[in-house]
Amino acid sequence: MINLASDNVVGASRPVLEALLAANDGVAAPYGTDPFTAKATALLSEVFEREVQNFMVATGTGANALALAALTPPWGAVFCHAESHVMDDECGAPEMFTDGAKIVGVPGLNGKMTIDALEEQLARFGKGVVKSVQPSALSISQVTEAGTVYSLDEIRAFTALAKKHGLKTHLDGARFANAMLSLGCSAAEMTWKAGIDVVTFGASKNGCLACEAVIFFDPALAENFQYRRKRGGHTLSKGRLLGAQMIGYLENDHWIKNATHANAMAQKLANGLKQIAGARLPWSVDANEVFVVIPQAAQKALDEGEIRAAPWSSNCVPDGFKIGADEAFLRFVTSFATKADEIDMVLATLSGRRAAAE
Ligand SMILES: *Cc1c(COP(=O)(O)O)cnc(C)c1O
Repeated sequence: MINLASDNVVGASRPVLEALLAANDGVAAPYGTDPFTAKATALLSEVFEREVQNFMVATGTGANALALAALTPPWGAVFCHAESHVMDDECGAPEMFTDGAKIVGVPGLNGKMTIDALEEQLARFGKGVVKSVQPSALSISQVTEAGTVYSLDEIRAFTALAKKHGLKTHLDGARFANAMLSLGCSAAEMTWKAGIDVVTFGASKNGCLACEAVIFFDPALAENFQYRRKRGGHTLSKGRLLGAQMIGYLENDHWIKNATHANAMAQKLANGLKQIAGARLPWSVDANEVFVVIPQAAQKALDEGEIRAAPWSSNCVPDGFKIGADEAFLRFVTSFATKADEIDMVLATLSGRRAAAE
């Protein structure tokens, strides 16, 4: 079986597991007051080229929801893409952890908000108007839900508009490394240098077992976060196990190697798909996600060949991109563990070469 439905169908990578095993021996102080967590924070400060406040949690939903809670009062509004994870895939956790702030969807094709649409949404909620929620935060997904990546100019334009309106800014980096490599920039350039205040630094999808870091650049914003995380049930008593995962993830550029491989596998798949008659890609393949429309017969060949992709639907395909009733819309996600052979097999199956050979 080949499963490319998501990058969370794989386990953790070896160096992460080895770092966990190494940290498992002996004793360490609990609740993140241990040397492993301190080392992880030091490594993250190196990655971001400045001292950061680092709060690790076990899930991306927890990281996003807690981060947003630090940026908005309960009567605030958080703006994000209309199909973002925060909006659609977190079961109301951002609403719950913010004590009921309003999450406002901003439309835009190709998984990206547009500046005009954000301005339009901001205009709905008057500053100081008692009957309006108060605009408080902007959350940008990088990689986006469409597998696209915002350019640095785009991020800067959004954060500039956000700052003009007094909003704090969050980056949902569930696939942080994949996006950074796609842009060929540094972690600093994609975040604080581009006006981002708080980052969900995703690590689970790219090699960890269960580890994401909420990264603050301004200590004042992080002031009460330790209480928020504990109250939210995300402070691990054996906190060193989060620290150890992050160490295994960052040391020796392991995270970079993993994401480089995942992105390359996605390019290989996309390039192959472009050669297959009847396969159409709605979006550019910027990182490690490939979305494709294929004839239903090809979908059947995948099923019979035990190849899994995720059925998808979206409102943000380009204008004029129609999906026929006899077609299937699928998402393939590559990871550090994806093998070139697997991509070859997917392509052979979709092109009918596999059936011909069997
Ligand atoms: C996977 C993902 C998350 C985190 O999801 P969890 O399942 O809670 O770890 C957050 N944002 C995006 C865009 C994601 O793809």
